Amino acid sequence: MSLSNGSMQAAILYGPRHVALETIPMPTLGATDVLVRVEAATTCGTDLKVFLQGGHARMITPPAVFGHEFSGTIVQVGAGVQHFREGMRVVANNSAPCYRCYYCRRNLPNLCDDLLFINGAYAEYIVVPERVVHTNLLEIPAALPCAVACLTEPLACVLHCLDQATLHPGDTVVVNGDGPSGLMLAAMAAWRGARVILCGRAPQRLGLARQFGVEAVINYADVPDQVMAVRALTDGQRGVDVAIEAVGRPEVWETTVAMVRKGGQAIFYGGCPRGTSVHLDTQALHYDQLTLRGVFHNTPYHVRLALDVLATGHLPGAALITTTLPLARLCDAFELMLARQALKVAVIPVPQQA
Ligand SMILES: [Zn+2]
Ligand SMILES: [Zn+2]
Repeated sequence: MSLSNGSMQAAILYGPRHVALETIPMPTLGATDVLVRVEAATTCGTDLKVFLQGGHARMITPPAVFGHEFSGTIVQVGAGVQHFREGMRVVANNSAPCYRCYYCRRNLPNLCDDLLFINGAYAEYIVVPERVVHTNLLEIPAALPCAVACLTEPLACVLHCLDQATLHPGDTVVVNGDGPSGLMLAAMAAWRGARVILCGRAPQRLGLARQFGVEAVINYADVPDQVMAVRALTDGQRGVDVAIEAVGRPEVWETTVAMVRKGGQAIFYGGCPRGTSVHLDTQALHYDQLTLRGVFHNTPYHVRLALDVLATGHLPGAALITTTLPLARLCDAFELMLARQALKVAVIPVPQQA
């Protein structure tokens, strides 16, 4: 029997907070595609937004499958596929650049005009299309659990972000935001030799940050002025060398800029809601010679680097996965995240009865 003629269970998004587990036909496998049995899919802030909004303006129109951080085992390869075979454990990035457009030719593949995204990780099986197979499908090293390997994509975004900053060992970096991305940004900045301050509001997460090498944590619920609290941790209150926003709210973008020293950098990692804007003090920007930088997504180089970092244990990824749930309880996973009771949830498809 060809697997691709069968059926599978998948979470279908119908609308805001409305997801149902259904039996649907297996996705069709092309001659150059790879079929992966999902062993684990991890939740992400983007998926939570999609769950709450019931879709995504650019990527997901309900009813639809969704989820984009996954790893699993190859169960079938198209006739034209090389380098991959059945039984291999793999992780895929959720996108692949075209390598033909202006931006790809300028070595800015994260800005590709034709970035191909894949969705549908909250299912028993997912097809990895040719372009992702070629550029962003990687074999998982034997000792790395599948659930941890799922962090390859978000960690690749984090590593790409840090490469957009000019960061020297000993520099002081503040990360605003204690979600999974904020924690990973803080951990990786510390790994690169920075002195890291993390601002957040969940005591448990701030405790975890200390395990990740963060030197100081600030619970902004406990301080009257978050900017002054950060500046107080720098010589002469001059401000930090690099400030990173990892929340995705315009007011936090502004707070982030206010924490930077003269000649320093503010990096905007978190995507804000559509139509929002920020207020900038032109005097400060000019006389303090600030660099402000938006960052988006990742590159194939950073995808490989991320998997290496996870495999070598430089980021204890397992600590970020605070909950494991079967696919049938996907809604509960999002509700836990919403209540800030879970960082990342590993969602495990339970095979159907034969
Ligand atoms: Zn993600
Ligand atoms: Zn391109």
